[in-house]
Amino acid sequence: MARPLVADIDLDALRHNYHLARSLAPRSRAVAVIKADAYGHGAVACARALEAQPAQARPPAFAVACLEEAEVLREGGVHTPIVLLEGIFEAKELAQVEALGLWMAVHSDWQVEALLAHRPARPIPVWLKVDSGMHRLGFSPEEAVGVWQRLAAAPDCASDLQLMSHFATADAVEAGYFRRQLARMQALGERLGAPLCLANSPATLAWPDAHGAWVRPGVMLYGSDPLEVPSEASRRLQPVMTLRSQIIAVRELEEGEPVGYAGRWRAPRRSRIGVVACGYGDGYDRHAVDGTPVLVAGRRTAIAGKVSMDMLTVDLTEIPEATIGSEVVLWGRAANGEVLGVDEVARHCDTISYTLLTGILPRVPRRYS
Ligand code: PLP
Repeated sequence: MARPLVADIDLDALRHNYHLARSLAPRSRAVAVIKADAYGHGAVACARALEAQPAQARPPAFAVACLEEAEVLREGGVHTPIVLLEGIFEAKELAQVEALGLWMAVHSDWQVEALLAHRPARPIPVWLKVDSGMHRLGFSPEEAVGVWQRLAAAPDCASDLQLMSHFATADAVEAGYFRRQLARMQALGERLGAPLCLANSPATLAWPDAHGAWVRPGVMLYGSDPLEVPSEASRRLQPVMTLRSQIIAVRELEEGEPVGYAGRWRAPRRSRIGVVACGYGDGYDRHAVDGTPVLVAGRRTAIAGKVSMDMLTVDLTEIPEATIGSEVVLWGRAANGEVLGVDEVARHCDTISYTLLTGILPRVPRRYS
C-alpha cells in the first residue's frame, strides 16, 4: 500500500469561495490570486477549474508573482489574462511578457523605463503599484502622478492603466491605518480618474469601501479566513485543501512515559498514542505544539510529542475505536463531514494559514475532485 498521506483539493469549494468573493464585491472584477502554486493547491488545476466555468462566472484575470509562474500556467493550457503582481525582475523578461500576453505591475522607475524602451508590438496592460503605507513596493502617491502621466502618454507601450496598492492591516479590527491607506488611494484615483485595484481577501470580506474596479482575493479562495474576528461572510468559506493521512501504528504507554524526540510529551495517565504518516518532511509545521488539533476518525484530538520528519504522534486515549488505518485529518474536512480549519492549526503553530498551505511539499500528492 502507498504511503497514505495526500492533499485532497476540493475544486467545488474553490469555486464556491471565488463566487463568495464576487458576490461580496458585485461591482468589481475579481482577479483570482494563484501565486505560490495557488497557495500550495496546484496553480494549473485551480486556474483551469475556475476558467472552465460559464463565461459570466470565470475570473477576468489571474495574478501571480513572477514570469515563471505565468509560464507554468500557459504551458498548462490556461488562456485567461495573467497579471504579474511584481512585474518584471529584469528588462529582458518583457519579450516573454509580450509573447504570453501577460499584464504587469510596475513598482519602480527602471521597470517603466524598460517598458517604454521595449516598444511592444501591442501595448501591455499595466497596473501602477502605489505605496500607500505598506512601505514595501511601489511609487509614493506623489511620484505615481508623474508615472501615470508618462504611461498614459505612451499608449503604444502601456494600455488599460490601473492603480493598485496593497493593505498592511485590512485583517485587523483596529481600522485607523487601513482607512489612511484607503483614503490616500481614493484621493489619488480621483485626481487621476484612475480605476483602483486595492482589496486583498480581508478587504474583500470586510471593507466594501475598498472594492474598486477590481478586487484581488487570495487566501480566502482556499477557504482560509484572514480576519482577526470572523464575519458572517467569512464563516461561509469552505476549506479547499484537506491534508489527510492515516494511523500507521499504535502504542500503549504507562503514565509518565515520554513520546518522541526530547521526550517533550509525557503520558499524564495510561495513554494510547497513534503514529501518523505526516511530518515536517511533508511540510507540516514542526512548531506544532502539544495540543495542536487533529481529527482522527472524524473526532478531535491533539498532537502529543514533537513532529518528526516523516511522522507525528497523536493522543488516541479518548478515541478507542481508532486503530491502524483510521483516517487522520491534519486540516480540512474529514470523511464524516467534521471540519478542522487550517487557521486554527496555524494559531497552534504560531503562524498563519498562508505558510502552512504554501509549505506542503511536492512529496505530498495532490488529489483533485
Ligand atoms: N495582492 C498582492 C499584491 C499580494 O501580495 C497578495 C498576497 O500576498 C494578495 C493580493 C492576496 O492577498 P490575500 O491572500 O491576503 O488575499
